[in-house]
Amino acid sequence: MNLEAIEAVKKLLSTPQNIVIVPHKNPDGDAIGSTLALWHYLQNRGHNATIVSPNDYPKFLKWMPGNEHILNFEKENSQAKGAIHHADLIFTLDFNHLGRIGQLQPLLEESKAKFIMIDHHQAPSDYAEIMYSDVAMSSTCEMVYNFIAFLGDESKITPEMANCLYTGIMTDTGSFKFSSTTSKTHKVVAELIDKGAENTNIHNKIYDTNSPSRLHLLGCALKNMVILEEYRTAYITLSQTELDTYSYKKGDTEGFVNYGLTLEGICFAVIFIENKEEGIIKISFRSEGDFSVNEFARSHFNGGGHDNAAGGKSDVPLEESTAFFVSLLKDYKEKLNA
Ligand code: 5GP
Ligand code: MN
Repeated sequence: MNLEAIEAVKKLLSTPQNIVIVPHKNPDGDAIGSTLALWHYLQNRGHNATIVSPNDYPKFLKWMPGNEHILNFEKENSQAKGAIHHADLIFTLDFNHLGRIGQLQPLLEESKAKFIMIDHHQAPSDYAEIMYSDVAMSSTCEMVYNFIAFLGDESKITPEMANCLYTGIMTDTGSFKFSSTTSKTHKVVAELIDKGAENTNIHNKIYDTNSPSRLHLLGCALKNMVILEEYRTAYITLSQTELDTYSYKKGDTEGFVNYGLTLEGICFAVIFIENKEEGIIKISFRSEGDFSVNEFARSHFNGGGHDNAAGGKSDVPLEESTAFFVSLLKDYKEKLNA
């Protein structure tokens, strides 16, 4: 963040404000961790802050301190609308264009509030008065830590905030292993532990909450994996019927896509998940090395994200979607084998 932006934020926050904080649709650990940490910070400074999530999120994220204050736009609709209507300031966290917030999009587009974006995805659109956008950052949680430090308030980071921020950095970096993890990330994480983040406990709460049905669903996903050695690619499919068979719950498929990358020689891993209710196939893309899945998702599947982790969707049936995907690969053969 430049000095001018920091001064502008300081001024905006110098008197109590009505503030709404919004994460992207289907929020992940980074989205929920960052919105909650910022919520605690703003509340502690005497503002009236409200988090509005576009929809529900997995149970393994619901232990975070302050979670009970998050409004789910699909369930607490009129309360959420009221908060947005009265907002002086709207923080948008962990996304950078308003197409990422589902049914919330028209409300935010109509809002007269000032927008502050904190985000680490590529190609930000320009809806925000104040943008803290940095694609080199590991996570929005690392950025919220910096944001609070820029305002001179590092010492105001409470154990609650530290637990939320640690969670988002951990989940967005694949437990500190992705290439976005820098020495600065580790320094921030060290500070967070000193400020009360219970690191071992957090790992357990996020990763060690498997149900038998989720592990069986993982078994099904791995059985369905197709390996295309000539393209150094592995993809997984899960149909709605398969999800139903294993009593799928939100969040159950988190991390499945990464198994493809654990195969020797594979640098591009994809999962296609049928969603009958929304009438789409939700797709996650992951890569190792220089192959940009952000570009691939943006070009062919109405999506985006980061160089090594992106998402998108397809409107045609599962088998057609995977056939289309495979047909694209021959144009990428060189890049995939570079
Ligand atoms: P995931 O595959 O875990 O859902 O998402 C991986 C990354 O891609 C995340 O940073 C997420 O925000 C981004 N992403 C996921 N789905 C979409 C999408 O449909 N559009 C865009 N622009 N980004 C997405
Ligand atoms: Mn993120």
